[in-house]
Amino acid sequence: MRDFSQDHRWLSINTATVRKQRGVEQPLPDIIEACARRGIRAISPWRDQVAAAGLSTISRLVKTHGLALSGYCRGGMFPATNAAGLQAARDDNRRAVDEACELNAACLVLVVGSLPGALAGKAVHKDIALSRSQVHDGIAELLEYATVNHMPLAIEPLHPMYAADRACINTMEQALDVCDALDSSRSGTLGVAVDVYHVWWDPKLEAQIKRAGKERLLAFHVCDWLTPTTDLLNDRGMMGDGVIDIPKIRGWVEAQGFAGYSEVEIFSTATWWQRDGGPVLDTCIARHKTAV
Ligand code: ZN
Repeated sequence: MRDFSQDHRWLSINTATVRKQRGVEQPLPDIIEACARRGIRAISPWRDQVAAAGLSTISRLVKTHGLALSGYCRGGMFPATNAAGLQAARDDNRRAVDEACELNAACLVLVVGSLPGALAGKAVHKDIALSRSQVHDGIAELLEYATVNHMPLAIEPLHPMYAADRACINTMEQALDVCDALDSSRSGTLGVAVDVYHVWWDPKLEAQIKRAGKERLLAFHVCDWLTPTTDLLNDRGMMGDGVIDIPKIRGWVEAQGFAGYSEVEIFSTATWWQRDGGPVLDTCIARHKTAV
């Protein structure tokens, strides 16, 4: 297992971590500059942040600073209620692959979606099995495009509390079942993003990380699970402030040969988004050394 205590060369910042300071959207170019000034070598930006600044601008900035992208957030949201909706998801996901290629991302992260309409507060149906089958088909179709374009797809299983609205893939086992069904040769183009926030509780986690192996471990996301958690989406903790044994999980992932970045991804309306971004990044660097 790599020693992170001396430096932060394997730290990546998911740019959502410092995007809404005191409710004000922070421009991605400013976030990139703040990361670069601190010797942070990798980021993982969101599509809407990139779109707001312009893809070519961000592409140029990333190159200027020699930054790596540990991932690109995000594709997915495959389920729909009709053919036009499925086609729109297909087209949008292809654009996400194109953008990820332009930015030279290590992978495109997939948050797969679930019941159509649920995210807006009114699910159109209750057939989660149908959503899972649409997700399966959507990933299969996108995988062909991703393979041609050499862009790995990382399925991110989300905590079951998001099963209705954000992702009907909720465990590593489910995600790896899809990988095995669609990519039996373990090509490296389809795998998982292991986010400790979503999977830390799973009694099968260690076994499923072993099952994934190096070819399928495409990203490693860190933050912490607070007790109590006051908001299902935007109350993630800084590493070390909660109950997740992050070094243990990192040890399991690295035992399989994963040698990429630890990507800090914290959505925190009440705490970390209430501070200036600079000190938040400094805290990420410090906790990366002591709690990851
Ligand atoms: Zn994540």
